[in-house]
Amino acid sequence: AKWVYTFGDGKAEGKSAMRDLLGGKGANLAEMSNLGLPVPPGFTITTEVCTYYYDHGRQYPPELEGQVAGALEAVGKLTGRRFGDAESPLLVSVRSGARASMPGMMDTVLNLGLNDTTVEALARGAGDERFAYDSYRRFITMYSNVVLGVEHHSFEEVLERYKDEKGLTLDTELGAADWKHLIGEYKALVKRELGQDFPQDPQAQLWGAIGAVFGSWMNPRANKYRELHSIPASWGTAVNVQAMVFGNMGETSATGVAFTRNPSTGEKALYGEFLINAQGEDVVAGIRTPQDITEVARIESGSDKPSMERAMPEAYAELVRIYGMLEHHYRDMQDLEFTVETGKLWMLQTRNGKRTAKAALRIAVELAAEGLITHQEAVGRVEPASLDQLLHPTIDPKAERKVIATGLPASPGAASGEIVFNSEEAEAAKKAERKVILVRIETSPEDIHGMHAAEGILTTRGGMTSHAAVVARGMGKPCVSGAGQIRVDYAARTLSVGGVTLKAGDRITIDGSNGQVMQGSVEMIEPELSGDFAALMEWADAVRTMKVRTNAETPLDARTARKYGAEGIGLCRTEHMFFQEERIVAMREMILADDAEGRRTALAKLLPYQRQDFVELFTIMSGLPVTIRLLDPPLHEFLPHSDKEIGEVAAATGVQEDKVRRRMNELHEFNPMLGFRGCRLAILYPEIAEMQARAIFEAAVEAAKQTGTPIIAEVMVPLVFTRTEFDLVKARIDAMAEAVASETGTKVEYQVGTMIELPRAALRAGDIAQTAEFFSFGTNDLTQTTLGISRDDAGRFLGPYTQRGILASDPFVSIDQEGVGELVKLAAERGRAVRDKLKLGICGEHGGDPASIAFCQETGLDYVSCSPFRVPIARLAAAQAAL
Ligand code: ADP
Ligand code: MG
Ligand code: MG
Repeated sequence: AKWVYTFGDGKAEGKSAMRDLLGGKGANLAEMSNLGLPVPPGFTITTEVCTYYYDHGRQYPPELEGQVAGALEAVGKLTGRRFGDAESPLLVSVRSGARASMPGMMDTVLNLGLNDTTVEALARGAGDERFAYDSYRRFITMYSNVVLGVEHHSFEEVLERYKDEKGLTLDTELGAADWKHLIGEYKALVKRELGQDFPQDPQAQLWGAIGAVFGSWMNPRANKYRELHSIPASWGTAVNVQAMVFGNMGETSATGVAFTRNPSTGEKALYGEFLINAQGEDVVAGIRTPQDITEVARIESGSDKPSMERAMPEAYAELVRIYGMLEHHYRDMQDLEFTVETGKLWMLQTRNGKRTAKAALRIAVELAAEGLITHQEAVGRVEPASLDQLLHPTIDPKAERKVIATGLPASPGAASGEIVFNSEEAEAAKKAERKVILVRIETSPEDIHGMHAAEGILTTRGGMTSHAAVVARGMGKPCVSGAGQIRVDYAARTLSVGGVTLKAGDRITIDGSNGQVMQGSVEMIEPELSGDFAALMEWADAVRTMKVRTNAETPLDARTARKYGAEGIGLCRTEHMFFQEERIVAMREMILADDAEGRRTALAKLLPYQRQDFVELFTIMSGLPVTIRLLDPPLHEFLPHSDKEIGEVAAATGVQEDKVRRRMNELHEFNPMLGFRGCRLAILYPEIAEMQARAIFEAAVEAAKQTGTPIIAEVMVPLVFTRTEFDLVKARIDAMAEAVASETGTKVEYQVGTMIELPRAALRAGDIAQTAEFFSFGTNDLTQTTLGISRDDAGRFLGPYTQRGILASDPFVSIDQEGVGELVKLAAERGRAVRDKLKLGICGEHGGDPASIAFCQETGLDYVSCSPFRVPIARLAAAQAAL
């Protein structure tokens, strides 16, 4: 079997389509080689070796050793060197690379193949001793750390002590003799820690590193990451072994990272950072401040260090040529890693770059405008859930800001909150529903949960590609990084800058779009919904087949939803209309009444309010369907709770206090969710449904008159489990429609349908659809009643259930397709079998969840309905589901 794929010298055995076999990094190195780009030659050991390794008790396939040796020789030929050779040694990097980029995997080892002999050859070859010993000490540190498990800071301490003794501050001040000396100390340190010598044999070094990459596939960090992102362990990782090129060969050498477009804003401009005379991850490590790549960026940042464009014009021109080519080839924004060795540019990585939602939107729209992708592809390029970030507030430009520091605009959006200095406090605050800003000197993977809990992140160290910046962008959280003027004192729990000292708990505001840090809270404004956003939404609407409606009962919500593109109301919960001051009194009077006559008197007081509500909704939604659900919750939800309230009700309704209490006792239920609610109210107290129906039809007549547009009213009966219930309620509604028609002389067009929110209703959908004109799947209740889980009580066990894989995800967030989904499918089929025009929709929380929306598309629903702020997400998700 073939376990090893080579690349380099303008060709490769692999290509980008072989990502599963070669991992993302390996596949793209192969692709770049095939494109004729300058890629140091190397080879990829496939992900199948990883699988084999774990299937065979951590043994390699027998052919592997020979294939690696052969590939290594081929690489040596291309570079004119040989691995382990004392005169002209080939040095390599060993790099892990899974199918999906995966933190938690082994870090890259550079300069592998160096030992006490080959280091001298390297020095001779380059005519530069300092460079050779600098490379060697880097190798010993990296290898000892990632392969042998010696703590990185142990080496740092040795180095710091040495620098102190010699009175040196920067690494660049150390010469060959210094590094030679330190290498001796490093080797002694390894011997002390591990009881054995640092491996001198290049073959042992190589296989040690390969073993470490495969071993890291199953380390706890990688396992955790896979679990969180549902990546199967069977995928495995690949290992890339690649000839070294050196960015640390003096002033004409450098290493850097670049994005072909700005990953924060999406602006079409090469964007990135580089460091002269440096290697590998010096750029991201934040040891030295990186320099800008383009001159424009340098001027903007005000840096006094030259840009790459100025310092290395030829390598820069080559980078510009290559990035344009890569963007055209991959038809997407690329994230590049490169090294310049004595003036020559080498490409070390390319991949589709991570980006903020704002950038994703702009890039998708602009790539389509440039003709690189179609409108449909653009629609597919933006993560629906990420639109949420764009709908976030930004700081009002007119607001007064007390700016105390400015860092880097690492992740856009603004946020205010109390200062916390560690992730534990951030989490605790989140639980207590307090908004916080996490302030750290820098963040590490251990801070992820704190970053999740915080509204925003502020760091005092690190660049645009630091951990905090990258993770925050991924989460869509505002982040300001590298605000170096700020001093953080973890012990005292304070931050200070320019004479201002703030304590934990004090409020600050950060603006991740310009890097400002402000004292106190600052006014925010709502986001802009035109431009790129509007363009992409228009393209999404063109491919979408399902309608998107909203759940709304207030005029404000209805207007917001329309602004976001809602095509009607899918759920108006009328009970929400009865809680306001004057109404609740009439409502309570109705509930406390002894008989139907008393109830009617109270309901008559509610009628005008209810009618006016509907007139407004119909007017706002003019020409669009509005689904109004009859009163649904158990009546006692409207009753007073405290003694004081009981007194107020008694006074307002003229009923004795003890009668109020008696009635409250009568209405008490052990399990109200399964109690006297839904259509059960309409059947036993039909006057309630009649009042609501009258309000609906009278409002429809009035709104039609006002707007000149016929109203599309849909009356929805909740919690039905048999057709008989539905028919009883429908008869009342139809009678009322006729009554209003004859009173007003105007016939209203309307439909009567039902919620499907009980398993029995789903099963009997065939009967119910005989008379019901539409179904709306109430998947919140349907989930509760199908799984036998009360959403309000599920907190204690749902977390552990999903963590242990008992449930794939929270069934109240994403529809349980196997169970609840099966009922939805069955009801849709049975319903449509008797009424082929039966209108089907969904109105639970799931109506705004992209995975559930894809399920709705597959099931053939006509529309989804969700909360106003999720309407754009639903529009895009529905479009992607239709692609
Ligand atoms: P990561 O996945 O963490 O980005 P990489 O394998 O890409 O790790 O390696 C990190 C950095 O190491 C690269 O960006 C590059 O600067 C450097 N590097 C890797 N391989 C080589 C090489 N063969 N020659 C020079 N530098 C290399
Ligand atoms: Mg890394
Ligand atoms: Mg990389």
